[in-house]
Amino acid sequence: MVNAEVWKALRTELDKKQVTLVAVSKTKPAGDIQELYDLGQRQFGENYVQELVEKQAVLPADIEWHYIGHLQSNKVKFIAPFVHLIHAVDSFKLLQEINKQAAKNNRVIKVLLQMHIADEATKFGMDENELTTLLEYYTAQKDTLQHIQICGLMGMASFSDDKEKVRAEFARLHNVFKFLKDSYFLYEPYFNTCSMGMSGDYQIAIEEGSTMVRIGSMLFGERNYAK
Ligand SMILES: *Cc1c(COP(=O)(O)O)cnc(C)c1O
Repeated sequence: MVNAEVWKALRTELDKKQVTLVAVSKTKPAGDIQELYDLGQRQFGENYVQELVEKQAVLPADIEWHYIGHLQSNKVKFIAPFVHLIHAVDSFKLLQEINKQAAKNNRVIKVLLQMHIADEATKFGMDENELTTLLEYYTAQKDTLQHIQICGLMGMASFSDDKEKVRAEFARLHNVFKFLKDSYFLYEPYFNTCSMGMSGDYQIAIEEGSTMVRIGSMLFGERNYAK
């Protein structure tokens, strides 16, 4: 079951602020996705490769699928034929593999680089140094990376009730985003996406400059991982 009223109100709010809504449908059945699709939602996010491949096969072809989870290099080939945006690139090796699989499919695949902004050790992503190193490699080898487009950054804040802490983490991500936009990507107008904010913290994320939010439980209800 999806919450149609919540979706409508959220989309109205986000459209007004020109923030893209990715409806995070992980663990939810294809029927729920179809319901939101019928209301007009086209961008959906998943974070398990097999689940995404299965859903993509049975749902409308014009859905734009976002891969928002941690991606292993050996699984890129399964989503490369159709994926719209890969949110969580955290190594140069993964970037090269996405480029290779995109080339095989005659595509250019859009990606975001994931930065680690939370203080929890469990969350994936790069720190500033790792990000800089990746961008040095990227810049040096750009000619061989014509099948990817780095469109921005993605991050997840700490899971915390401390709103000021969450705000500071989003602000930090947005600062790095702005810096890259004015340096490495100055001549690449497609570098325009700062993906941050989930059901619990999207309002703060938008106040801090998010251009894309990834929202699941608020639209689809709580996830049940046990089933
Ligand atoms: C699950 C997930 C979301 C959505 O989380 P909700 O709290 O349900 O809105 C957003 N981003 C990522 C990377 C996720 O894995």
